[in-house]
Amino acid sequence: MSTAAVPRDAVPVGPPPALRVYCNRNLRMSSIAAIGFDMDHTLALYNAETFEHLCFAMALRLLVRQKGYPATILDLAYEPQQAQRGLIVDKRLGNLLKTDSHGYVSRVRHGARTLAREERREVYKRGRLRLSQDRYRVFDTLFDVPEGCLYAELVRLKDEEPDLIRSSYRILFNDIREAVDTIHRDGSLKRTIMADLDRYFVRDPHLGDTLRRLRAAGKKLFLLTNSEVEYTAAVMRHALADDPSPLDEVFDLVICAARKPDFFVPRGKGRAVPRGKIELLANARGNCYVGGDAFFLESKLGAFGDAILYFGDHTYGDILRSKKSVGWRTAMIVPELEQEVAAQLALRDEFRALEEIEARLEELEFRRDFHLRPGAPESVAPPDLAAEIAAGLQRRSALQRRTAAVYNPFWGSLFKEGRAASRFGGQVKDFACIYTSRVSNFRPYPANRFFMNPGERLAHEL
Ligand code: IMP
Ligand code: MG
Repeated sequence: MSTAAVPRDAVPVGPPPALRVYCNRNLRMSSIAAIGFDMDHTLALYNAETFEHLCFAMALRLLVRQKGYPATILDLAYEPQQAQRGLIVDKRLGNLLKTDSHGYVSRVRHGARTLAREERREVYKRGRLRLSQDRYRVFDTLFDVPEGCLYAELVRLKDEEPDLIRSSYRILFNDIREAVDTIHRDGSLKRTIMADLDRYFVRDPHLGDTLRRLRAAGKKLFLLTNSEVEYTAAVMRHALADDPSPLDEVFDLVICAARKPDFFVPRGKGRAVPRGKIELLANARGNCYVGGDAFFLESKLGAFGDAILYFGDHTYGDILRSKKSVGWRTAMIVPELEQEVAAQLALRDEFRALEEIEARLEELEFRRDFHLRPGAPESVAPPDLAAEIAAGLQRRSALQRRTAAVYNPFWGSLFKEGRAASRFGGQVKDFACIYTSRVSNFRPYPANRFFMNPGERLAHEL
């Protein structure tokens, strides 16, 4: 049979950029024996709009009912752009902060106001923060976003009407944290969600097929989640609605209420889920547990350390700890990637022009420095050179403004801060072997694919 009939251009060059799997560290899938998945925000994708709005509204109601906040706060509107993942709360001053991957504070907002550069430098004089202090809290998951928005709104209200909210910025944040924690723990949030799963989750039609392909390639699959048994069973049933197999057949091992990150330190065996007691997780094969630790999991699967690949969305609890404590390979799910890549593609020409003008400016500045060097005969740059630099700077500012407009208006790109990586972006780079926006993005790739690092370049190599 001739192969010449298929024109080369007709062969797709790969998945669209927003749906690709990106690699930071070489990963040979043929060396992976077991693949594990977190559930919330990893296998099960929340509908950000409805879910975050629900958290925001429920936490507000709790603040009024249990903490004595005035009922007028119930009128506050949810503005999702007020916060994003990777931000840091400064409880002492009532600020939200963005830092770059070196830990330097690059953006600060207080309520609805962005601090000007001078004010920011005055407040955070040392630039770097000691994040281990109780003064700070880091937003590592998508669950934290509504909490950040709530804090920004209440700080704004407190500044505008100090008599309405008398608690300090620190107590205000602690109250919000307690309220959000309570709605997660007391079952109220999950009861509302379970009553209308279609409203709170976006079902991925390719998820079941993706898992089946990995199984067919001989990989053992496991589910490892902090969510409780009933919630896990209901949410997974919804996520895999096109697959009638019971959950304990889709996965070789299911571990609920895992309490990550503690799951990655020695703690002992898990408890078996009682057989036949929970309708959607009957545990007929005896492979469903609650709690335990990573060593228990490895012995059940017969796979260890770097033969395990774990998919998660939580920078610390899923990715950093599983990699550092037990040496698993890591795949990070970043749903925000889809929007960010699509936005960058729409302004591809502008981003390219910005890179070009930056390279050109560097060259022109070298030339200017040559004319201004100590002991130079004139010590002044030729007028045409000065004019070209001025025009270049103006063009750079215009391009910077245009490209910045594709990101969050207050916080900019999730992954970057100017030309540097943001704290979040730096963590993805350091701890995620591979990353992508959703699990089903693996479907077009062969199950034993070699994901290759695109080649790291140091500044002198650019
Ligand atoms: P994951 O397994 O790491 O994705 O964790 C998801 C579980 O953590 C869900 O059951 C959430 O309800 C729960 N969760 C998220 N934020 C909080 C919190 O602030 N307090 C208690 N539980 C939380
Ligand atoms: Mg999760």
